Amino acid sequence: MNTAAFIHGVRDIRIGNIEPGFADNNSALVDIVSVGVCGSDLHYYKDGGIGSALIKAPFVPGHEFSARLTSDIDSSKLKRGQLVAVDPSLPCNRCEWCEKGHHNLCPDVVFLGAPPHHGALTQQLKVPIQSIIPIPDIMSADQAAMLEPLGVCIHAIDLAKPRLLESVAVLGCGPIGLGIIQLLQLSGCGDIFAIDPQRHRRTLAKKLGATHVGENIEAVLDNNGANGCHLVIEATNSPAGFQDAVNASRIGGRLVLAGIPDGNTYDSLSAADARRRGLTVKFSRRMGNVYPRAIDLVATGKVDVDELISHHFPLQGVAEAFAMQADETEGLIKSIICPGQE
Ligand SMILES: [Zn+2]
Ligand SMILES: [Zn+2]
Repeated sequence: MNTAAFIHGVRDIRIGNIEPGFADNNSALVDIVSVGVCGSDLHYYKDGGIGSALIKAPFVPGHEFSARLTSDIDSSKLKRGQLVAVDPSLPCNRCEWCEKGHHNLCPDVVFLGAPPHHGALTQQLKVPIQSIIPIPDIMSADQAAMLEPLGVCIHAIDLAKPRLLESVAVLGCGPIGLGIIQLLQLSGCGDIFAIDPQRHRRTLAKKLGATHVGENIEAVLDNNGANGCHLVIEATNSPAGFQDAVNASRIGGRLVLAGIPDGNTYDSLSAADARRRGLTVKFSRRMGNVYPRAIDLVATGKVDVDELISHHFPLQGVAEAFAMQADETEGLIKSIICPGQE
């Protein structure tokens, strides 16, 4: 029988059995190799849902994953055993937003690993052939699983449009913030101020390209004589994230909010702080068609996703993994679950 990890309710994730599902027509059966635990999976675990996407029945999370094909796919000349990533997003391709190329905003999207569609924390899945992305031989299964979160980083950078030598603040140095820092460095921007309350994350931020790091914005900006940043990218799970981003920006600055706040609500925001600065604010949701660039960045070594992976667990260790990740255990960045391992 195919086993999977089900979220039953708040802080309750358990192993159970499930038929390998998701897609029926034009699908391929895959063996799941690596699954990243995402901040959004943790919201289902900690809050029982995200906004209107509530868990009403036991639900299998997981949308950042790599897998191996269990048989040849003639139409795409892919062979059994091929390592693949799978785009978890199936937009309708017909609505106003899909037609404009904003597939990440499609209101009719089917997303693997968002309720009610079970995700990849399981041994086997049937996935749509059109969603399969072959991975070059030089890349590992863990790297392939990191392409989805890296895609989220690329989308945030696409929205942010960093300019040469401008100062940037990155709030939150989890996997998304740390990916964004690496992309910012490639962009040719100026000083990168990275903020995170956890020391091990700040250390890694520095290693991956941040020029200044600190526990909070005030400490970092004031200590370095910076009067707010031109660009602020928020990638925290904090309800204070929006206000912090405003505080970190300079007059005329731009904000990109990529994080999902705990409890689906931002703390009250001072209108004057944001208004008087005349800020431009963008909300970043998931990603566009970014897999080719994500693969190129990892395959060429321009972005290091291995540094972002701190822990591995077998599927049976999923409860421990989620508890550690939700408790923001010291030393943790990204956990990878390996359903093929005992
Ligand atoms: Zn994710
Ligand atoms: Zn659509």
